[in-house]
Amino acid sequence: MSPSGVLHSHSIATMGADGIGPEVVDASVRVLQTLAQLDGSFHLDFHNFDWSSRTYKKTGSYIPQGGLDELRKHDAILFGAVGAPDVPDHISLWGLRLAICQPFQQYANVRPTKIFRGTKSPLRQANHGDLDWLIVRENSEGEYAGQGGRSHRGQPWETATEVAIFSRHAVDRIMRFAFQSARTRPRKLLTVVTKSNAQRNGMVLWDEVAAEVAKDFPDVKWDKMLVDAMTCRMVLNPKSLDTIVATNLHADILSDLAAALAGSIGIAPTSNLDPTRQFPSMFEPIHGSAFDITGKGVANPVATFWTAAEMLTWLGEERAAKKMMDAVEAVTERGITTPDLGGSAGTKEVTDAVCEELEKIYRQHSRK
Ligand code: ATP
Repeated sequence: MSPSGVLHSHSIATMGADGIGPEVVDASVRVLQTLAQLDGSFHLDFHNFDWSSRTYKKTGSYIPQGGLDELRKHDAILFGAVGAPDVPDHISLWGLRLAICQPFQQYANVRPTKIFRGTKSPLRQANHGDLDWLIVRENSEGEYAGQGGRSHRGQPWETATEVAIFSRHAVDRIMRFAFQSARTRPRKLLTVVTKSNAQRNGMVLWDEVAAEVAKDFPDVKWDKMLVDAMTCRMVLNPKSLDTIVATNLHADILSDLAAALAGSIGIAPTSNLDPTRQFPSMFEPIHGSAFDITGKGVANPVATFWTAAEMLTWLGEERAAKKMMDAVEAVTERGITTPDLGGSAGTKEVTDAVCEELEKIYRQHSRK
């Protein structure tokens, strides 16, 4: 209950979509319902949207007419993954995920990474606490702006262009968001990833705007790193990094590397934020549909649990989000993990264990 005694209610749109998406979203809804019930201070109202590659194959579109207006009525969106073996990836990505992110101006894509207690990084010298990053990805333009075209189709001289767009407006707002995010973390340290040695237009504007915005954040220490050198630094010196800002494409690639260095892509969350809060923000695990393990009951739900905790924080339920993460980490510490983290538990066992931990945490809390 809030100090005024009013029960907060949040309306959540869920969209498992494809592959293991529905499995990990269903598991997260179970954990969130358990959490809300135990906590008693907020209520979550879930509304499922059955938009997926199945719908596309049946109707010719991922999002029905008027669908975005319906989706907009919710406070947040919990998304699974989109992609099917028989639908080209650019159709599924642009048909659903980007068709939500772009009109909803979810321009900041935020990807935290850390090594969970009880889990191991493939890096020999990195332990829990040695790798704790926040990657901020520009999510509205750059290399994924959709600008370009194809001509002379089928001819030997066929040509295609993929034009990266960098506008001062979008670079400025993501830099401000990144410096602000760095400021809220204890180390107040930001690395700006670039490729301005080879890409001398867009990336030079990117660097210039970073330097201008930095002047408004004198308390944040920052440095600049070429994207290729950044991959080496992430592997060889993970402790030297904290908050990282990069373009749409660079951050997309670096965050998969980050997830793997933390142990598995099965633990990494994403928030697609509209910081103006004009539109609902969308929360999803980093991983894709993972066809190879779909339906086998072994998908790691931790990425979506962490995603759901990030969603709660965004909705103002920080206390409950922290309890959810405490429960998840107590479970990894007990060694109850899916095969991608070296364990032998299934999605359901991990989910059951997180719900049990939550019950323990709230029992201890009520005794205090
Ligand atoms: P996308 O391009 O949509 O990001 P992808 O096809 O590149 O997706 P994923 O679907 O993320 O890749 O799968 C990459 C690998 O990681 C696969 O072997 C998959 O089984 C594994 N994987 C992904 N997510 C999970 C998860 N939650 N639990 C366990 N393994 C996972």
